[in-house]
Amino acid sequence: MRYLSTRGGVAPLAFKETVLSGLAEDGGLIVPELVPVLPEAEIGALRDLSYQELAFRVFRYFVDDIPREDLRRLINRAYATFTHPDITPVVKKGPVWILELFHGPTLAFKDLALQFLGHLFEYLLAERGERMNILGATSGDTGSAAIYGVRGKKNLAIFILHPHGRVSPVQALQMTTVTDPNVFNLAIEGTFDDCQAIVKRLFADLEFKRKYRLGAVNSINWARVMAQIVYYLWAYFRVAEAEGVERVRFSVPTGNFGDIFAGYLARRMLSGRIERLILATNENDILTRFVNRGDYSVREVVPTISPSMDIQVASNFERYLYYLWGEDPARVREAMERFGEEKRLEFSPEEIERVREDFLSASVTQEETLETIREFYRDTGYILDPHTAVGVRAALEFLEDYPVICLATAHPAKFPEAVSRALGFEPPVPEPLSDLTSKPRRVVLLPAEVEAVRRFISEHAL
Ligand SMILES: *Cc1c(COP(=O)(O)O)cnc(C)c1O
Repeated sequence: MRYLSTRGGVAPLAFKETVLSGLAEDGGLIVPELVPVLPEAEIGALRDLSYQELAFRVFRYFVDDIPREDLRRLINRAYATFTHPDITPVVKKGPVWILELFHGPTLAFKDLALQFLGHLFEYLLAERGERMNILGATSGDTGSAAIYGVRGKKNLAIFILHPHGRVSPVQALQMTTVTDPNVFNLAIEGTFDDCQAIVKRLFADLEFKRKYRLGAVNSINWARVMAQIVYYLWAYFRVAEAEGVERVRFSVPTGNFGDIFAGYLARRMLSGRIERLILATNENDILTRFVNRGDYSVREVVPTISPSMDIQVASNFERYLYYLWGEDPARVREAMERFGEEKRLEFSPEEIERVREDFLSASVTQEETLETIREFYRDTGYILDPHTAVGVRAALEFLEDYPVICLATAHPAKFPEAVSRALGFEPPVPEPLSDLTSKPRRVVLLPAEVEAVRRFISEHAL
Protein backbone atom coordinates (compact mmCIF):
# COMPACT_ATOMS: atom_id res chain seq x y z
CA MET A 1 0.00 0.00 0.00
CA ARG A 2 1.25 3.45 -0.87
CA TYR A 3 0.12 6.69 0.74
CA LEU A 4 -0.77 10.03 -0.83
CA SER A 5 -1.32 13.57 0.41
CA THR A 6 -4.89 14.93 0.33
CA ARG A 7 -3.36 17.98 -1.40
CA GLY A 8 -1.45 15.99 -4.01
CA GLY A 9 1.94 17.66 -3.53
CA VAL A 10 3.96 14.69 -2.27
CA ALA A 11 5.39 11.64 -4.03
CA PRO A 12 3.75 8.40 -2.82
CA LEU A 13 5.05 7.25 0.56
CA ALA A 14 5.50 3.82 2.11
CA PHE A 15 3.73 3.08 5.41
CA LYS A 16 6.84 3.51 7.52
CA GLU A 17 7.47 6.96 6.09
CA THR A 18 3.91 8.07 6.79
CA VAL A 19 4.27 7.13 10.46
CA LEU A 20 7.40 9.15 11.08
CA SER A 21 6.35 12.17 9.04
CA GLY A 22 2.86 12.75 10.51
CA LEU A 23 1.66 15.64 8.34
CA ALA A 24 2.43 15.57 4.60
CA GLU A 25 5.05 18.10 3.51
CA ASP A 26 2.56 20.04 1.37
CA GLY A 27 0.43 20.69 4.46
CA GLY A 28 -2.10 17.98 3.55
CA LEU A 29 -3.00 14.82 5.41
CA ILE A 30 -1.81 11.37 4.45
CA VAL A 31 -4.35 8.87 3.07
CA PRO A 32 -3.98 5.34 1.69
CA GLU A 33 -4.08 5.26 -2.11
CA LEU A 34 -7.06 2.94 -1.91
CA VAL A 35 -9.50 1.79 0.74
CA PRO A 36 -9.67 -2.01 0.72
CA VAL A 37 -13.11 -3.59 0.53
CA LEU A 38 -13.10 -6.89 2.41
CA PRO A 39 -14.29 -9.87 0.36
CA GLU A 40 -17.29 -11.83 1.76
CA ALA A 41 -15.15 -14.85 2.61
CA GLU A 42 -12.64 -12.67 4.45
CA ILE A 43 -15.39 -11.08 6.55
CA GLY A 44 -16.48 -14.56 7.59
CA ALA A 45 -12.90 -15.46 8.51
CA LEU A 46 -12.42 -12.34 10.66
CA ARG A 47 -15.51 -12.82 12.83
CA ASP A 48 -14.11 -15.02 15.54
CA LEU A 49 -10.53 -13.79 15.80
CA SER A 50 -9.06 -12.35 19.00
CA TYR A 51 -8.72 -8.57 19.08
CA GLN A 52 -4.97 -8.80 18.48
CA GLU A 53 -5.33 -11.19 15.57
CA LEU A 54 -8.06 -9.04 14.03
CA ALA A 55 -5.77 -6.01 14.37
CA PHE A 56 -3.03 -7.95 12.61
CA ARG A 57 -5.32 -8.88 9.71
CA VAL A 58 -6.62 -5.32 9.36
CA PHE A 59 -3.15 -3.77 9.55
CA ARG A 60 -1.87 -6.17 6.88
CA TYR A 61 -4.09 -4.40 4.35
CA PHE A 62 -2.28 -1.15 5.06
CA VAL A 63 1.22 -2.22 6.06
CA ASP A 64 3.41 -4.13 3.63
CA ASP A 65 6.84 -2.92 4.68
CA ILE A 66 7.07 -4.50 8.15
CA PRO A 67 7.67 -8.27 8.40
CA ARG A 68 4.61 -10.19 9.61
CA GLU A 69 6.15 -11.51 12.79
CA ASP A 70 7.44 -8.07 13.78
CA LEU A 71 4.01 -6.55 13.23
CA ARG A 72 2.41 -9.29 15.33
CA ARG A 73 4.86 -8.66 18.13
CA LEU A 74 4.18 -4.90 18.10
CA ILE A 75 0.45 -5.52 18.31
CA ASN A 76 0.75 -8.04 21.12
CA ARG A 77 2.93 -5.70 23.16
CA ALA A 78 0.65 -2.73 22.55
CA TYR A 79 -2.47 -4.45 23.86
CA ALA A 80 -0.74 -6.30 26.72
CA THR A 81 -1.28 -3.18 28.88
CA PHE A 82 -5.08 -3.48 28.62
CA THR A 83 -6.87 -4.89 31.62
CA HIS A 84 -9.80 -6.56 29.84
CA PRO A 85 -9.23 -9.84 27.96
CA ASP A 86 -11.41 -8.61 25.06
CA ILE A 87 -9.43 -5.31 24.94
CA THR A 88 -12.61 -3.44 23.86
CA PRO A 89 -15.61 -5.33 25.28
CA VAL A 90 -19.07 -4.49 23.98
CA VAL A 91 -22.05 -4.69 26.36
CA LYS A 92 -25.79 -4.20 25.94
CA LYS A 93 -27.17 -1.48 28.23
CA GLY A 94 -30.80 -0.48 27.91
CA PRO A 95 -31.62 0.33 24.28
CA VAL A 96 -28.01 0.59 23.06
CA TRP A 97 -24.73 -1.29 22.93
CA ILE A 98 -21.73 0.27 24.65
CA LEU A 99 -18.29 -0.32 23.18
CA GLU A 100 -15.92 0.18 26.11
CA LEU A 101 -12.73 1.76 24.82
CA PHE A 102 -11.37 2.66 28.27
CA HIS A 103 -9.56 -0.45 29.48
CA GLY A 104 -6.10 0.86 28.58
CA PRO A 105 -3.57 2.43 30.98
CA THR A 106 -5.06 5.97 30.92
CA LEU A 107 -8.71 4.85 30.76
CA ALA A 108 -9.54 6.61 27.48
CA PHE A 109 -9.87 5.50 23.88
CA LYS A 110 -6.68 7.26 22.79
CA ASP A 111 -4.74 4.39 24.38
CA LEU A 112 -5.94 2.06 21.62
CA ALA A 113 -3.88 4.00 19.08
CA LEU A 114 -1.10 5.45 21.23
CA GLN A 115 -0.06 2.21 22.90
CA PHE A 116 0.52 0.81 19.42
CA LEU A 117 2.16 3.98 18.10
CA GLY A 118 4.74 4.04 20.93
CA HIS A 119 5.92 0.53 20.07
CA LEU A 120 5.86 1.31 16.37
CA PHE A 121 8.02 4.43 16.82
CA GLU A 122 10.50 2.53 18.98
CA TYR A 123 10.73 -0.20 16.33
CA LEU A 124 11.23 2.21 13.42
CA LEU A 125 13.82 4.29 15.28
CA ALA A 126 15.84 1.20 16.23
CA GLU A 127 15.78 0.06 12.63
CA ARG A 128 17.11 3.42 11.44
CA GLY A 129 19.52 3.93 14.32
CA GLU A 130 17.78 7.23 15.07
CA ARG A 131 16.37 9.02 18.09
CA MET A 132 13.32 11.22 18.44
CA ASN A 133 11.97 13.74 20.94
CA ILE A 134 8.20 13.99 20.93
CA LEU A 135 6.89 17.46 21.70
CA GLY A 136 3.25 18.33 22.36
CA ALA A 137 0.80 20.43 24.34
CA THR A 138 -2.26 19.10 26.12
CA SER A 139 -5.30 20.44 27.88
CA GLY A 140 -5.82 17.05 29.49
CA ASP A 141 -6.54 13.73 27.90
CA THR A 142 -4.20 13.36 24.96
CA GLY A 143 -1.14 14.18 27.03
CA SER A 144 -1.43 11.25 29.40
CA ALA A 145 -2.22 8.77 26.61
CA ALA A 146 0.84 9.97 24.66
CA ILE A 147 3.04 9.80 27.78
CA TYR A 148 1.90 6.24 28.51
CA GLY A 149 2.60 5.33 24.89
CA VAL A 150 6.19 6.61 25.05
CA ARG A 151 7.25 5.80 28.64
CA GLY A 152 10.12 3.35 28.84
CA LYS A 153 10.67 3.20 25.06
CA LYS A 154 14.23 3.26 23.74
CA ASN A 155 15.56 6.14 21.63
CA LEU A 156 12.38 8.06 22.32
CA ALA A 157 11.64 10.86 24.78
CA ILE A 158 8.54 12.99 25.29
CA PHE A 159 8.06 16.61 26.39
CA ILE A 160 4.44 17.46 27.17
CA LEU A 161 3.37 20.99 28.08
CA HIS A 162 0.22 21.50 30.11
CA PRO A 163 -1.20 24.70 31.62
CA HIS A 164 -0.24 24.67 35.30
CA GLY A 165 -3.31 24.38 37.55
CA ARG A 166 -5.69 24.33 34.59
CA VAL A 167 -6.04 20.66 33.82
CA SER A 168 -8.32 18.48 35.93
CA PRO A 169 -6.70 17.01 39.06
CA VAL A 170 -7.07 13.43 37.77
CA GLN A 171 -5.47 14.32 34.45
CA ALA A 172 -2.60 16.22 36.05
CA LEU A 173 -1.89 13.26 38.33
CA GLN A 174 -2.06 10.79 35.47
CA MET A 175 0.67 12.69 33.68
CA THR A 176 2.95 13.74 36.49
CA THR A 177 3.11 10.38 38.25
CA VAL A 178 4.94 8.89 35.27
CA THR A 179 8.53 9.09 36.45
CA ASP A 180 10.34 7.30 33.63
CA PRO A 181 13.53 9.17 32.71
CA ASN A 182 12.34 9.68 29.10
CA VAL A 183 9.17 11.54 30.15
CA PHE A 184 9.20 15.29 30.82
CA ASN A 185 6.08 16.99 32.14
CA LEU A 186 6.32 20.73 31.75
CA ALA A 187 3.73 22.68 33.74
CA ILE A 188 3.53 26.06 32.05
CA GLU A 189 2.50 29.17 33.97
CA GLY A 190 -0.14 30.16 31.43
CA THR A 191 -3.10 28.88 29.45
CA PHE A 192 -3.47 25.96 27.07
CA ASP A 193 -3.23 28.47 24.20
CA ASP A 194 0.15 29.62 25.55
CA CYS A 195 1.32 26.00 25.60
CA GLN A 196 0.17 25.45 22.04
CA ALA A 197 1.76 28.66 20.84
CA ILE A 198 5.12 27.66 22.35
CA VAL A 199 5.00 24.23 20.72
CA LYS A 200 4.08 25.77 17.39
CA ARG A 201 6.96 28.24 17.58
CA LEU A 202 9.46 25.48 18.34
CA PHE A 203 8.24 23.30 15.45
CA ALA A 204 8.43 26.32 13.16
CA ASP A 205 12.11 26.79 14.07
CA LEU A 206 13.37 24.28 11.50
CA GLU A 207 16.95 24.33 12.73
CA PHE A 208 15.87 23.57 16.29
CA LYS A 209 13.44 20.94 15.04
CA ARG A 210 16.14 19.18 13.04
CA LYS A 211 18.84 19.46 15.68
CA TYR A 212 16.69 17.89 18.40
CA ARG A 213 14.80 15.56 16.03
CA LEU A 214 11.41 16.81 17.21
CA GLY A 215 8.40 14.64 16.39
CA ALA A 216 4.68 14.61 17.13
CA VAL A 217 2.08 11.97 17.91
CA ASN A 218 -1.06 14.03 17.22
CA SER A 219 -4.34 12.65 16.00
CA ILE A 220 -3.56 13.18 12.31
CA ASN A 221 -0.93 10.43 12.36
CA TRP A 222 -2.14 7.78 9.93
CA ALA A 223 -1.12 4.91 12.23
CA ARG A 224 -3.50 6.24 14.88
CA VAL A 225 -6.41 6.26 12.46
CA MET A 226 -5.51 2.77 11.27
CA ALA A 227 -5.38 1.37 14.80
CA GLN A 228 -8.86 2.75 15.48
CA ILE A 229 -10.45 0.90 12.55
CA VAL A 230 -10.07 -2.40 14.40
CA TYR A 231 -12.60 -1.85 17.16
CA TYR A 232 -15.34 -0.92 14.71
CA LEU A 233 -14.95 -4.30 13.03
CA TRP A 234 -14.62 -6.05 16.37
CA ALA A 235 -17.84 -4.53 17.72
CA TYR A 236 -19.69 -5.00 14.44
CA PHE A 237 -19.06 -8.75 14.47
CA ARG A 238 -20.22 -9.16 18.05
CA VAL A 239 -23.35 -7.06 17.83
CA ALA A 240 -24.42 -8.34 14.39
CA GLU A 241 -24.24 -11.86 15.71
CA ALA A 242 -25.97 -11.16 19.03
CA GLU A 243 -28.79 -9.24 17.32
CA GLY A 244 -28.99 -11.54 14.30
CA VAL A 245 -28.72 -8.59 11.90
CA GLU A 246 -26.55 -7.63 8.96
CA ARG A 247 -26.39 -3.86 9.55
CA VAL A 248 -25.70 -1.64 12.56
CA ARG A 249 -25.02 2.00 13.38
CA PHE A 250 -22.27 3.48 15.50
CA SER A 251 -22.55 6.64 17.58
CA VAL A 252 -19.26 8.49 17.97
CA PRO A 253 -18.55 11.41 20.35
CA THR A 254 -16.52 13.59 18.02
CA GLY A 255 -13.90 16.32 18.35
CA ASN A 256 -11.03 16.15 15.88
CA PHE A 257 -12.84 13.68 13.60
CA GLY A 258 -10.07 11.07 14.04
CA ASP A 259 -12.16 8.39 15.68
CA ILE A 260 -15.14 8.76 13.37
CA PHE A 261 -12.91 8.88 10.30
CA ALA A 262 -11.65 5.42 11.29
CA GLY A 263 -15.34 4.46 11.44
CA TYR A 264 -15.85 5.83 7.95
CA LEU A 265 -13.03 3.63 6.65
CA ALA A 266 -14.45 0.61 8.52
CA ARG A 267 -17.82 1.32 6.90
CA ARG A 268 -16.25 1.20 3.45
CA MET A 269 -14.20 -1.91 4.27
CA LEU A 270 -17.41 -3.65 5.41
CA SER A 271 -19.36 -2.60 2.29
CA GLY A 272 -21.98 -0.60 4.15
CA ARG A 273 -22.73 -3.13 6.90
CA ILE A 274 -22.30 -0.09 9.12
CA GLU A 275 -25.47 1.54 7.89
CA ARG A 276 -24.47 5.01 9.02
CA LEU A 277 -22.27 6.68 11.58
CA ILE A 278 -23.92 9.00 14.09
CA LEU A 279 -21.65 12.00 14.54
CA ALA A 280 -22.28 13.36 18.04
CA THR A 281 -21.02 16.80 19.07
CA ASN A 282 -21.38 18.93 22.18
CA GLU A 283 -22.14 22.65 21.94
CA ASN A 284 -19.12 22.98 19.65
CA ASP A 285 -21.30 21.83 16.79
CA ILE A 286 -19.45 22.72 13.58
CA LEU A 287 -19.51 19.12 12.34
CA THR A 288 -23.22 18.73 13.10
CA ARG A 289 -23.95 21.91 11.17
CA PHE A 290 -21.90 20.45 8.32
CA VAL A 291 -23.84 17.18 8.19
CA ASN A 292 -27.27 18.68 8.70
CA ARG A 293 -26.98 21.93 6.76
CA GLY A 294 -23.74 21.94 4.77
CA ASP A 295 -22.50 24.80 6.95
CA TYR A 296 -18.86 24.30 8.00
CA SER A 297 -18.09 27.67 9.57
CA VAL A 298 -15.86 28.29 12.56
CA ARG A 299 -17.25 29.81 15.75
CA GLU A 300 -15.68 30.48 19.14
CA VAL A 301 -14.80 27.38 21.15
CA VAL A 302 -17.20 26.94 24.09
CA PRO A 303 -15.69 25.15 27.13
CA THR A 304 -17.94 22.23 28.15
CA ILE A 305 -18.06 19.25 30.51
CA SER A 306 -16.85 17.04 27.62
CA PRO A 307 -13.58 18.96 27.11
CA SER A 308 -11.96 16.52 24.67
CA MET A 309 -14.64 17.48 22.16
CA ASP A 310 -14.27 21.25 22.60
CA ILE A 311 -12.93 21.70 19.09
CA GLN A 312 -13.95 23.86 16.16
CA VAL A 313 -11.47 23.06 13.41
CA ALA A 314 -11.38 19.26 13.28
CA SER A 315 -7.89 18.28 12.23
CA ASN A 316 -8.86 15.04 10.44
CA PHE A 317 -11.82 16.47 8.53
CA GLU A 318 -9.74 17.14 5.42
CA ARG A 319 -9.38 13.39 4.96
CA TYR A 320 -13.12 13.02 4.60
CA LEU A 321 -13.35 15.94 2.19
CA TYR A 322 -10.78 14.19 0.01
CA TYR A 323 -13.11 11.21 -0.41
CA LEU A 324 -16.28 13.29 -0.59
CA TRP A 325 -14.78 15.15 -3.54
CA GLY A 326 -13.80 12.01 -5.45
CA GLU A 327 -10.13 11.97 -4.37
CA ASP A 328 -9.43 15.24 -6.15
CA PRO A 329 -6.37 16.83 -4.44
CA ALA A 330 -6.59 20.09 -6.41
CA ARG A 331 -10.08 20.65 -5.11
CA VAL A 332 -9.01 19.91 -1.51
CA ARG A 333 -6.01 22.23 -1.74
CA GLU A 334 -8.10 25.06 -3.13
CA ALA A 335 -10.84 24.57 -0.51
CA MET A 336 -8.42 24.41 2.42
CA GLU A 337 -6.69 27.58 1.28
CA ARG A 338 -10.06 29.31 1.07
CA PHE A 339 -11.03 27.90 4.46
CA GLY A 340 -7.78 29.28 5.94
CA GLU A 341 -8.88 32.76 4.91
CA GLU A 342 -12.64 32.73 5.23
CA LYS A 343 -12.97 30.22 8.11
CA ARG A 344 -15.93 28.65 6.37
CA LEU A 345 -16.84 26.16 3.68
CA GLU A 346 -20.23 25.72 2.09
CA PHE A 347 -21.61 22.63 0.44
CA SER A 348 -24.25 22.13 -2.24
CA PRO A 349 -27.51 20.26 -1.51
CA GLU A 350 -26.22 17.45 -3.71
CA GLU A 351 -23.04 17.18 -1.62
CA ILE A 352 -24.98 17.26 1.65
CA GLU A 353 -27.11 14.44 0.33
CA ARG A 354 -23.99 12.33 -0.17
CA VAL A 355 -22.63 13.27 3.26
CA ARG A 356 -25.92 12.08 4.74
CA GLU A 357 -25.46 8.66 3.21
CA ASP A 358 -22.43 8.34 5.51
CA PHE A 359 -23.54 10.23 8.62
CA LEU A 360 -26.41 11.24 10.84
CA SER A 361 -25.65 13.93 13.37
CA ALA A 362 -26.88 15.64 16.51
CA SER A 363 -25.45 18.26 18.83
CA VAL A 364 -26.04 17.78 22.55
CA THR A 365 -26.11 20.55 25.17
CA GLN A 366 -24.46 20.24 28.58
CA GLU A 367 -27.89 20.13 30.24
CA GLU A 368 -28.86 17.22 28.00
CA THR A 369 -25.55 15.49 28.71
CA LEU A 370 -26.10 15.63 32.47
CA GLU A 371 -29.71 14.51 32.03
CA THR A 372 -28.52 11.56 29.94
CA ILE A 373 -25.99 10.49 32.58
CA ARG A 374 -28.77 10.68 35.18
CA GLU A 375 -31.45 8.84 33.18
CA PHE A 376 -29.13 6.19 31.82
CA TYR A 377 -27.94 5.42 35.34
CA ARG A 378 -31.53 5.30 36.62
CA ASP A 379 -32.60 2.94 33.83
CA THR A 380 -29.56 0.68 33.54
CA GLY A 381 -27.33 1.21 36.60
CA TYR A 382 -24.47 2.06 34.22
CA ILE A 383 -22.42 5.25 34.66
CA LEU A 384 -21.53 7.15 31.48
CA ASP A 385 -18.67 9.62 31.26
CA PRO A 386 -19.74 13.00 29.78
CA HIS A 387 -18.22 12.29 26.34
CA THR A 388 -19.90 8.93 26.07
CA ALA A 389 -23.14 10.51 27.26
CA VAL A 390 -23.07 12.92 24.31
CA GLY A 391 -22.86 9.92 21.98
CA VAL A 392 -25.60 8.03 23.79
CA ARG A 393 -27.91 11.04 23.72
CA ALA A 394 -27.40 11.42 19.97
CA ALA A 395 -27.94 7.67 19.49
CA LEU A 396 -31.35 7.86 21.21
CA GLU A 397 -32.50 10.13 18.37
CA PHE A 398 -31.63 7.54 15.75
CA LEU A 399 -32.63 4.20 17.26
CA GLU A 400 -35.17 3.12 14.68
CA ASP A 401 -34.35 0.24 12.32
CA TYR A 402 -30.81 -0.64 13.42
CA PRO A 403 -28.97 -1.57 16.61
CA VAL A 404 -26.71 1.30 17.71
CA ILE A 405 -23.24 0.79 19.16
CA CYS A 406 -22.13 3.78 21.26
CA LEU A 407 -18.42 4.33 21.64
CA ALA A 408 -17.52 4.80 25.33
CA THR A 409 -14.43 6.96 24.90
CA ALA A 410 -13.51 7.50 28.54
CA HIS A 411 -14.05 5.91 31.94
CA PRO A 412 -16.44 7.98 34.11
CA ALA A 413 -13.89 8.14 36.95
CA LYS A 414 -11.81 10.49 34.79
CA PHE A 415 -14.57 13.10 35.03
CA PRO A 416 -15.81 12.89 38.63
CA GLU A 417 -17.03 16.53 38.74
CA ALA A 418 -19.45 16.13 35.83
CA VAL A 419 -20.68 12.73 36.98
CA SER A 420 -21.22 14.03 40.46
CA ARG A 421 -23.21 16.99 39.14
CA ALA A 422 -25.49 14.52 37.37
CA LEU A 423 -25.76 11.79 39.98
CA GLY A 424 -24.92 13.42 43.29
CA PHE A 425 -22.00 11.05 43.88
CA GLU A 426 -18.64 10.41 42.29
CA PRO A 427 -18.11 7.24 40.27
CA PRO A 428 -16.11 4.41 41.88
CA VAL A 429 -12.42 4.83 41.15
CA PRO A 430 -10.79 1.88 39.39
CA GLU A 431 -7.35 0.54 40.25
CA PRO A 432 -5.11 2.58 37.93
CA LEU A 433 -6.47 5.86 39.35
CA SER A 434 -6.96 4.93 42.99
CA ASP A 435 -3.32 4.94 44.05
CA LEU A 436 -2.17 7.96 42.01
CA THR A 437 -2.14 10.44 44.89
CA SER A 438 0.38 8.36 46.82
CA LYS A 439 2.82 8.03 43.93
CA PRO A 440 5.94 10.14 43.43
CA ARG A 441 5.62 12.90 40.84
CA ARG A 442 7.93 14.34 38.22
CA VAL A 443 7.05 17.73 36.79
CA VAL A 444 8.92 20.95 36.03
CA LEU A 445 7.31 24.37 36.39
CA LEU A 446 8.28 26.81 33.63
CA PRO A 447 7.18 30.34 32.68
CA ALA A 448 5.07 30.69 29.50
CA GLU A 449 8.10 31.68 27.43
CA VAL A 450 9.44 30.01 24.32
CA GLU A 451 13.04 30.52 25.45
CA ALA A 452 12.53 28.74 28.76
CA VAL A 453 11.06 25.70 27.03
CA ARG A 454 13.68 25.79 24.30
CA ARG A 455 16.45 25.77 26.91
CA PHE A 456 14.86 22.92 28.85
CA ILE A 457 14.54 20.76 25.75
CA SER A 458 18.08 21.44 24.60
CA GLU A 459 19.35 20.37 28.03
CA HIS A 460 17.27 17.20 28.29
CA ALA A 461 16.62 15.95 24.73
CA LEU A 462 18.00 12.58 23.61
C1 LIG B 1 -10.21 12.69 21.99
C2 LIG B 1 -11.50 12.32 22.60
C3 LIG B 1 -12.71 12.37 21.87
C4 LIG B 1 -12.78 12.90 20.45
O1 LIG B 1 -12.14 12.06 19.51
P1 LIG B 1 -11.70 12.64 18.09
O2 LIG B 1 -10.92 11.55 17.45
O3 LIG B 1 -10.87 13.85 18.39
O4 LIG B 1 -12.95 12.98 17.36
C5 LIG B 1 -13.87 11.95 22.50
N1 LIG B 1 -13.87 11.53 23.77
C6 LIG B 1 -12.73 11.46 24.51
C7 LIG B 1 -12.81 11.00 25.92
C8 LIG B 1 -11.51 11.85 23.96
O5 LIG B 1 -10.39 11.80 24.69
